[in-house]
Amino acid sequence: MSKIAFLGLGAMGSRLAKNLLDSGADLVVWNRSEEKTKPFVEAGAKAASSPREAGEMTDVVLAMVADDEASRAVWLDAETGALAGMARGKTAVEISTLQPQWVRELGPKMAEKGVDLVEAPVSGTLPQAENAGLVFFLAGEADALDRAEPVLQPLGKTFTRVGAWGDGATVKLATNAILGVNVAAWAEVIGMLDRAPVDTKAAVDAIAKTAVWAPNFGYLTNSMMSGDFDPKFPVELIDKDFRYALALAGADKAPLVQHVHETFERAMAEGLGAENMTALAKLYR
Ligand code: NAP
Repeated sequence: MSKIAFLGLGAMGSRLAKNLLDSGADLVVWNRSEEKTKPFVEAGAKAASSPREAGEMTDVVLAMVADDEASRAVWLDAETGALAGMARGKTAVEISTLQPQWVRELGPKMAEKGVDLVEAPVSGTLPQAENAGLVFFLAGEADALDRAEPVLQPLGKTFTRVGAWGDGATVKLATNAILGVNVAAWAEVIGMLDRAPVDTKAAVDAIAKTAVWAPNFGYLTNSMMSGDFDPKFPVELIDKDFRYALALAGADKAPLVQHVHETFERAMAEGLGAENMTALAKLYR
């Protein structure tokens, strides 16, 4: 069986690493803040002292970190980066939500060393991460994807090949642009219903019977109506995705994305960055 490394044990990464461990993987973990590796070591994983050491110890290295800067650091740092420790023929799997141009820069840098990059961003949040219900957008060379898919099987329910390096990021940012616009719409509409002389819950239940309703609206509206803003996908991460989506689309071609990005920025300025994205509703109470 392949030895697998997981870099980045944040809210998502820790759940994915646990699923790999539970599936019987021979797992090595690394996280910038070392204390997050402890429960994994207690459960039978090994901890690496750096991404580089994780790369030396394993055949396949997966990363799920915050953004482009974090991705650059864990893969390419000359002293501590995973690529410095990975031998020819090994596979790198990048699951973080990143900008397409960064993935297009990373892939060839890995190829120069004979390492195959598989781009594998995901849609779904903490419950889907826990229950192996994530939707993966895979991109890269077909042979590398064939090798990576069995490694990713314990983590997701859907694996769609979307093209070449960077195309995974593009599809993921497009997905989250649709998501964030809907979050902003519901934040305003819940406020509107609360101020109108109707029962908000009954109104939302009525809307749920229409063709306008989408699969994640139950989660969004329940969170906003109950005031449960415990972070699953926090404002600061979707704000980052909107910054990336806006750069991809061009502000003059995507005024709605720009407006919603400004709304997430406002939420950050009002101290809501660490709360769930649905806390946008607090702006309109
Ligand atoms: P998170 O809980 O904030 O975790 C971020 C991880 O990145 C932590 O392990 C953190 O290390 C690490 N990190 C940050 N900056 C770093 C740096 N400069 N060098 C090395 N490591 C660094 O975020 P998350 O929710 O797990 O999300 C991780 C990625 O998945 C993001 O790209 C996010 O957009 C994407 N995503 C999230 C969701 C979701 O619902 N949350 C869903 C799909 C995709 P420390 O522990 O040391 O801070």
